[in-house]
Amino acid sequence: MANVKLTEVTRKFNHVTAIEDITFEVPDGEFWVLVGPSGCGKSTILRTIAGLESATSGGVYIGDTLVNHVPARQRDVAMVFQNYALYPHKTVRENLAFGLQMRQVAPTIIKERVEKVARSLDISHLLDRKPKQLSGGQQQRVALGRAIAREPKVFLLDEPLSNLDAQLRDDTRAELKELHQRVGVTTIYVTHDQVEAMTLADKIIVLNRGKIQQVGEPQEIYAHPINRMVATFLGNPKMNILPAIYAGKLFKVGEQVLGCPGFVRDKLQLREGQSLDLGIRPEHIEVIEPQRRRERREEEEGELFVEVKVIEPLGRETLVRVSLSGLDLQMDVLASGGWRGRVGDRISVQFDLNHLF
Ligand code: ADP
Repeated sequence: MANVKLTEVTRKFNHVTAIEDITFEVPDGEFWVLVGPSGCGKSTILRTIAGLESATSGGVYIGDTLVNHVPARQRDVAMVFQNYALYPHKTVRENLAFGLQMRQVAPTIIKERVEKVARSLDISHLLDRKPKQLSGGQQQRVALGRAIAREPKVFLLDEPLSNLDAQLRDDTRAELKELHQRVGVTTIYVTHDQVEAMTLADKIIVLNRGKIQQVGEPQEIYAHPINRMVATFLGNPKMNILPAIYAGKLFKVGEQVLGCPGFVRDKLQLREGQSLDLGIRPEHIEVIEPQRRRERREEEEGELFVEVKVIEPLGRETLVRVSLSGLDLQMDVLASGGWRGRVGDRISVQFDLNHLF
């Protein structure tokens, strides 16, 4: 096993800079996720670590070794792609063994390792089948097994779940996490899916346009996104963004006003009349029931009036889309709260100003 380090890595394809000045270090045994929109450079980073792509400048280290000029097959990394690329004419057993045979590992050791890997991935009963006799999920497990059987120092996974249907994707994701906890190989995982990133990662690296935006633990990034791209990329449903104007120590939003919390005022040194965008996550807007509203003596800071546009029950919570003087907002309302609104209702909602961005 080994840590993986990149120092100021840039890769250009003619005039296109695919990745720029990428620096990070994944400690031995951790599971890191590279996440970002399509084309942001995730695969290029992974391929550069694997040796399938070379850095235009900067250093790639596996363990303490600079590997820029080490050929892919000598880097001792295993890469799994979304199209599993199993050998169609070989059985599962032969697929799992192939990489080891190429390395001239002794047949008795190969047999032992193949069986151990098959047991750990629950595919022992499939060893004599050919890939086309397997479901998508089973094929993906074989592809993972083939990579694990080689006992690489580093595991690189490029969108390995994106060809699976939703249920299987969730199950395989959980299996992957469990597998990592058991095997403990340094893993770098690429995805555009923020749910995969949040659930799998020890640390997330958020990328945009070839550059690192933020590195941190999932909850840390979710709670303290460094910029608007990160704030709106992580989180489902997405963070709401509302244009506002700072006036008289308050925010004017549409035709209404919202209190400006002290921490925002201190941090931003706002000018009177300044325009800005406010961010708030759907779970930080709450419906105020009419009963509770009447109990309030006066209008509280953070209260706004909105019109209900769309109601989407999801079981545990309900996604409610509302309009605030023509601006669209999404709210996440817990079903256990018992709210029974209807489309067209004018309701009063409370912004949790402590969670205003
Ligand atoms: P992602 O994996 O995040 O979707 P990629 O790493 O595949 O992004 O691509 C990053 C950028 O580099 C894109 O603009 C892509 O078009 C460009 N790129 C990647 N590979 C090549 C290549 N072989 N030749 C030219 N441009 C490339």
